[in-house]
Order: sequence, then C-alpha cells, then structure tokens
Amino acid sequence: MANPLYDRLFAIHEGKTKPFIRLPDGREISYARFLSRSAQIAGAMTEMGLAPGDRVAAQVEKSPEALMLYAACVRAGLVFLPLNTAYTSDELSYFIENSGAGLIVCDPARKDEIGAMARRLGARLETLAADGSGSLTERAAGRSDRFATVDRDEDDLAALLYTSGTTGRSKGAMLTQGNLLSSALTLTEVWRFTERDVLLHALPIFHTHGLFVATNVVLAAGASMIFLPRFDIDQIIENLPRATAMMGVPTFYTRLLDDPRLTRELVAHMRLFVSGSAPLLAETHRAFEERTGHRILERYGMTETNMNTSNPYDGERRAGTVGFPLPGVEIRITDPETGAELPPGEIGQIEVRGPNVFKGYWRMPEKTAQELREDGFFITGDLGMVDSDGYIHIVGRNKDLIISGGYNIYPKEIELVLDAQPGVKESAVIGVPHPDFGETPLAVIVPEKGARPERAALEQAVRAALARFKHPREYVFVDELPRNTMGKVQKNLLRERYRDAFA
Ligand code: ATP
Ligand code: MG
Repeated sequence: MANPLYDRLFAIHEGKTKPFIRLPDGREISYARFLSRSAQIAGAMTEMGLAPGDRVAAQVEKSPEALMLYAACVRAGLVFLPLNTAYTSDELSYFIENSGAGLIVCDPARKDEIGAMARRLGARLETLAADGSGSLTERAAGRSDRFATVDRDEDDLAALLYTSGTTGRSKGAMLTQGNLLSSALTLTEVWRFTERDVLLHALPIFHTHGLFVATNVVLAAGASMIFLPRFDIDQIIENLPRATAMMGVPTFYTRLLDDPRLTRELVAHMRLFVSGSAPLLAETHRAFEERTGHRILERYGMTETNMNTSNPYDGERRAGTVGFPLPGVEIRITDPETGAELPPGEIGQIEVRGPNVFKGYWRMPEKTAQELREDGFFITGDLGMVDSDGYIHIVGRNKDLIISGGYNIYPKEIELVLDAQPGVKESAVIGVPHPDFGETPLAVIVPEKGARPERAALEQAVRAALARFKHPREYVFVDELPRNTMGKVQKNLLRERYRDAFA
C-alpha cells in the first residue's frame, strides 16, 4: 500500500543525517530528525481522534515544527490547511467554519481568543510557537518515532489551501496528493534541483509559493534550505553566500536592488533566482541582470493549480513573460464570452489543464462548475496571450479589466507606457465609475525616489502610444501601492479608495 506524496517526498529521506533545514542561528535539522519528530506529531494527532480526511488548520509562525506538522498531516492522511498569520480572529472564523477543521493549531499568544472560537465550532485546539514550543510539541514529545503511514490515493486530498483573496473572498482550493506531487517533480526537473542545492527560503509557508513550490522542490531533490523567518534584507545578504538558489516574490528583487550590498560578487556562485506570485516588472529583470549578471527566471502559478508555466532554465528567459507551459501542462487562451480558443497574439482568458490542476473549491460546487470545465480545463481568471515565439504574457486579471464606453481596456497596456517614463517607479491603472462611460481608467503613479514626474508629460506619453479611449482621465501620485504579504498589488483597495473620483 502507499501514500504517494509521503513516500516520494518524505519517506525516501528516512535515516539521512544530511541537514534538511538550516536556521539562521546555525542550528541544523537533519532529514532523519525532521521525520522522526513529524512521526511523533502524526501519532499525537491520531491519538486525539483525528481520522484520515479531517482538516488540520494551522495559523502558526514559520518554523521547522510547522513544516513537521505538514509532513505529519501527509503521513496521517490528514488535510493540511495553513492560514495566513495576519488573519484576525474574525477572518479566521470564516476559514475554520468553512473548512470544518477538526483541529486548530495556533500561536500560544492567541490561545484564548482562538480557543473560544474552537469551542464554538467544535474543533480541538493545540498551540505551536515560533520557537517550536507549545502544547502540540508537548503532546508529541516522548511518543514513538514510528508511525504507520496511512494509505492514500493520488486523488485523495492532501491540502486545503485558501487563495490569497486578491480579487474577493478567499476560496479553499482542494489539492490532491497527485496535484502536489506532479508539480514538485516537474519543477525539480525543469529547474534542475539536486541534492547539492541549498535554497534560500524567506517566503511565508502558508502560501503555495513557500510551502509547495519551495519546500516540496527541496524535498523532492533531497536538497537543503536556509530557513529564514521572513524577508529581512540583512539576513538575506548574510545568507546568500551559503545558498545556490533563491525563490522570491518580485518585491524581494526590488528590495535587493535597493541595497548597495547586492553586487555581482555576492551572488556570483548562485545557480538560480526564481520569481513569481505577482508580475515582475521587465525593468526589475533588466536591472537585476545589469547588477548581478543573473537573469531571474519568472514563472506563473496559482493556489488552485500549483505551477503552470515557467521561463526556460536553458534558453532565453524573457523579461515581462512567464515563459512556456510546464511539461504535462496545457494552456489555452479563450474568448471570455464564447469560450472559443483564440489564435496566438490575441488576448483572452488563460485556461489550464494538467495533473497540477486542483479538484475544485471546497464546499463551493457552483463556483467549481463555473470555473472548472467538463474537459478538465480550469479558467484561471487571468488574461493573457501567447506571442509568436510561444512565450506567455500575462496581461492582468479578468476582474481588473476596464470596460469604458463598451471598449475593453487592459490596464497592463497603459501601465507599461507609464512605467517606462522617467521618474516613474511603477504604476497601477484601475477602472473607476464614470457617469458617461460606465468606467474610466485612473492611473496611480509611484514616483522614483526624489523624482516628481509631471502629469502633462505622462499624458503626452500616453497620447503618443495609445488610442484615446485608453487615456487615463485622472492621475494620482502616491508613495507606494497597497500590497498584500505576497507582494500582490491590491487593486480592489485602490478601486475603493478612488471610487468617487468622477462622482
Ligand atoms: P484570489 O484568487 O483569492 O483573488 P490570488 O489569485 O491572488 O487571490 P493566489 O492563488 O495566491 O491568489 O495567486 C495566483 C495569482 O497570482 C494568479 O492567478 C496570477 O494573477 C498571479 N500571478 C502569479 N504568478 C504571476 C506572475 N509571474 N506574473 C503575474 N501574475 C502572477
Ligand atoms: Mg486567484
């Protein structure tokens, strides 16, 4: 009998003294120790009465123990449900209630607050602190480090991962063992991870990027990772010399570029820099190459599908694109209205099919039916096109599309023009209500440090490049764009903020 995900990612490392996790204070956790401690946690959870298929919600700080909990869930056939540490108890109660979690693991500091909720919802509560202490660890300590792995099928749920909530309320994506495993194996191969790699890990582990992309790739390759609690520029600079690869969100790269200590010498030994979760500006890609000689490899994925596309390891990594479909993954671009497939060069909705694509939204059969087609293609909600060389360009989200006087306007097209102007660091174009046009574009501009771009110059640039109906009717200047923990620009907040610009 088998447990495909556990067998391939974890069990193969049984007994290895090699470090899996290196901590900034110099401590190392070997694969063997990691596995025996996760076996103890699996035993403790089984003893509590949790049965295969039950959900285990974890709102805990990033720690090796939090990953042991993930491993323990996979091994015991439980469904791991990590939650953003920033969520308030009100937000949390939605996730706990919606998921019907049988166990909640939270930080000891929030025990009282979350304990009350757990009692109300009939879930058990255990604690786990950033330093690894807590009631869960106490229960696990002293238990046998042998645990009979629970049989699972490729099609059984391994995780319930909620989306980032960038476009609306987070949805629970049901991810199977097969989804996670296929993605991990594919990425390990295409990004050439081996046991010689040391990944610099500074991402949160409640999101697919830090948990499934980064951690599962390290596990699949039998590599090591330097496990930092968060992105702290001093710690990153200090640890880069000990790493071979880094995965980050675009803000990691802009923050590195803002630091004079990022030099060619500092990263000369590095093998790979990967970016994803939000668009990497072509400008950032170029600046990083100029400074370091490395071409960042940008890829595209989402909670529901793991990874879909990637720029090539060998071959041209093209700035401003997310590369090609990964092996085994099919991408098609379709007309949002008719669903018909569109030819290369035309913008439409991105649909994806493959072993990486989730099983559906948890307890949302209607939404699942709307977005997951009968033929297995998932409608991502992103808009994009395939260029003549086959590179995929993401143009933005369907929900950010502006419809003005009956015309479709892709914000990205305007943002690219604005971003290229002197003194502009970045921009976000949103649609705001307008009495005549229904909606009209408004440009939110972030100037470069110390620069003050003139509105007239921006208008001039837009006039020269774009048809009249696409010209922003208003420009506002701000110090920074609102972003969530994954570095995603929160356009919904901007729309809310400027809703009355033409009222
Ligand atoms: P929600 O679905 O709740 O609104 P979300 O879509 O931001 O939130 P995630 O699953 O974390 O939640 O993010 C997936 C999305 O992130 C993709 O659909 C895409 O819009 C964006 N994304 C990921 N990688 C890239 C990339 N390289 N370039 C552009 N966008 C990207
Ligand atoms: Mg989404």
